[in-house]
Amino acid sequence: MKVVKFGGSSLANARQLEKVKNIMASDPTRRIAVVSAPGKRFDSDTKVTDLLIELASQCLNGSADTLQTFKEIIERYASIAEELSIEEPIIEEITRSLSELLDMDKSVPGYFIDAVKASGEDNNAKLIAAYFRKAGLKARYINPKEAGLILSDEPGQAKVLAESYLNLYALRNYEEILVFPGFFGYTRKGRLVTFSRGGSDITGAIVANGVEAAMYENFTDVDSIFVANPKIVQNPVGISHLTYREMRELSYAGFSVLHDEALYPAFAEGIPVVVKNTNNPSAPGTVICEERPEGSDPFAITGIASQKGFASIYISKYMMNREVGFVRRVLSVFESFNLSIEHVVSGIDDIDVIFKEDQLSGNEIEHLLSEIKHQTAADQVVKCDNLCLLMVVGESMKSRVGITAKIASALSKASINLEMINQGSSENSLMFGIKEDQEEYAVRAVYNAFFQEDPR
Ligand code: ASP
Repeated sequence: MKVVKFGGSSLANARQLEKVKNIMASDPTRRIAVVSAPGKRFDSDTKVTDLLIELASQCLNGSADTLQTFKEIIERYASIAEELSIEEPIIEEITRSLSELLDMDKSVPGYFIDAVKASGEDNNAKLIAAYFRKAGLKARYINPKEAGLILSDEPGQAKVLAESYLNLYALRNYEEILVFPGFFGYTRKGRLVTFSRGGSDITGAIVANGVEAAMYENFTDVDSIFVANPKIVQNPVGISHLTYREMRELSYAGFSVLHDEALYPAFAEGIPVVVKNTNNPSAPGTVICEERPEGSDPFAITGIASQKGFASIYISKYMMNREVGFVRRVLSVFESFNLSIEHVVSGIDDIDVIFKEDQLSGNEIEHLLSEIKHQTAADQVVKCDNLCLLMVVGESMKSRVGITAKIASALSKASINLEMINQGSSENSLMFGIKEDQEEYAVRAVYNAFFQEDPR
């Protein structure tokens, strides 16, 4: 059986929902549809999840705009139901349940916000199940509590607990197509909590693992995952197959097609993830799997990703290599500031610690620098900001000679200064630190070198 997840853009209006229904009806092995909340209908539109977050904060602040936002949300569902001529009293039910939610206990705002946020998916799943029934499919909404999707007690960033997988296996027994709302589950104490934003992808992967699906299809609005960001490179080459490890590296550095927490549950069970297009379902899409079939993608590298917003702290001290515990002291300062670290690159007498810049305010940076200096008696402690990480990813790099040279030469021809180079021990990727304002030139330079000029 297949578990199929549909993202918000596939569910934004009645026309899209019809495509979704046809996709489900065209393959009897598609047994479970995991759905997002309605997304944007056009570029300047607002996602229902964003409206719900606004509604929750207006409610918490006692804002006079609450009623207006409430109406706007109901209107989104009502226009879909009307266009699809759904006769079941679904809009009455959505209106009642959303207004009941707004009356719930607000003493822990995190739980309140999560409950309101998650109603986007929950109500959409009810509406879609009603539409499927109207269209003649045997379909049923299922609530994550009933299905046993148990999460850690961390509102807004919950993680799946192992017992969920055992519970979810029972979903195999339903005769109907199950419409499962993405993005949320329940704690052991029965409180509703959500994953981080974009988390319906995670639900899909967990459900696929739980029911031991043969495939997890993730429907979005592109024909495939591209080797580079199409906003930077015009009409980039599409990828037919990616390994889990490559996808992990690419999504870390900015490939946002799939939530980066959504890979592990599929990977753990060896379930292939296929990214497909709701607007063009016959296109083969991109398969993410354990091993790439021989000859499926003829290029020396698999993808180029880039991500802005990093900073590094450069620390140097003469004879650092002989000083026992030096790196530990540096890292413990980062820990005491509750900072998560992305990379550590070291030389003989110096190290660079790279982290996401938005974790610290200007004041805290000054404190961090002086604390590192104090703890290590370093000769130099300097912050370098506006750093962009350029990641060149591909498992076949391991066995090829000259890849680093080719990238470095393409970047040097484009006059891009490399602040740092790092190759992970897995040799699946190469990371280059560059200045943020050179991001686009760098991506295009590497793209041209590998996908246009000489694909070997
Ligand atoms: N609707 C949620 C969001 O926008 C979850 C999702 O769509 O995956 O973050």
